Amino acid sequence: HAKASGRDTHRFYAEAMNAEAVAHLSTRSSLRRALERQEFLIHYQPQVSLETGAVIGAEALLRWNHPDKGMIPPGAFIPVAEDSGLIVPIGAWVLAEACRQAARWRSQGLSLSIAVNLSALQLQRNDLVRTVTQALADSGLDPLLLELELTESMLIQNTELVIDNLRRIKAMGIQVSIDDFGTGYSNLSYIGRLAVDKLKIDRSFVADLTRNHDSAKITAAVIQMAHSLNLTAVAEGVEDAETLEALRLLRCDVAQGYFLGRPGPAEAVERAARQVNPFKVKV
Ligand code: C2E
Ligand code: MG
Ligand code: MG
Ligand code: MG
Repeated sequence: HAKASGRDTHRFYAEAMNAEAVAHLSTRSSLRRALERQEFLIHYQPQVSLETGAVIGAEALLRWNHPDKGMIPPGAFIPVAEDSGLIVPIGAWVLAEACRQAARWRSQGLSLSIAVNLSALQLQRNDLVRTVTQALADSGLDPLLLELELTESMLIQNTELVIDNLRRIKAMGIQVSIDDFGTGYSNLSYIGRLAVDKLKIDRSFVADLTRNHDSAKITAAVIQMAHSLNLTAVAEGVEDAETLEALRLLRCDVAQGYFLGRPGPAEAVERAARQVNPFKVKV
């Protein structure tokens, strides 16, 4: 029986693996199809100056508008896109589209920066600078208005190629920010070496800032560190007025979160940016 059950077990795993492989494949091929059929779109989330209350930019957040399943968030498909390498063409599309949108805002008299998330695979390619240059040239966007978001883990493997890519991106005048700061690698030496511009304090610290003493201390420390290095401190995940006020008192520079605006169509950012004091930030 041991042999039979062993064989069954083996068959069970073989089938499971097969099913998984098929599911993976279908997602991968449907991602490729999605790109061809233009099912991807970008939602924009406003970024607000805590000094003036004005919308100063937006983050581009990828969405997949699936014909059957509806709007799919990036967490559900970006891992597959990364594993299959499809994040490279998808990421190039995001860059091009986000730059086009920021250039459109600029032509409407709105000078808003646009932040685009990069994957490790994009940062490790020798055509990254060409892709970014192309997106800027095609859109006519001022490089000073483009910001690229990296995570700490992407900078652990700071190979010569990664360092060179970042150096060339910085030389073009593009801003570089560290996303989800505080959740990753604790070796901070890269911050000075790679000349980043902004630290985005992870939402896990910001979310319970007003209730959790440790989160408050960590947030305050990151803001102080950012300022002593001449970097901009950005808080993500601001969900209420109390948190916004606490961040303002801590002299955080920029905030982003559902309280200030959910990710949505470009027009929502546009409307908010045209208001004088859009989110009733006390100044
Ligand atoms: P992220 O770059 O850290 O983006 C912030 C995420 O937090 C977004 O989730 C946003 O919708 C969400 N968020 C913003 N404010 C709040 C808030 O007040 N409360 C809560 N609970 N959440 C808030 P989203 O859009 O699902 O994106 C998730 C992640 O997917 C992003 O995290 C980013 O790492 C990745 N991603 C999104 N777009 C792209 C892209 O074009 N390329 C790559 N490589 N990754 C992307
Ligand atoms: Mg981000
Ligand atoms: Mg983040
Ligand atoms: Mg994140």
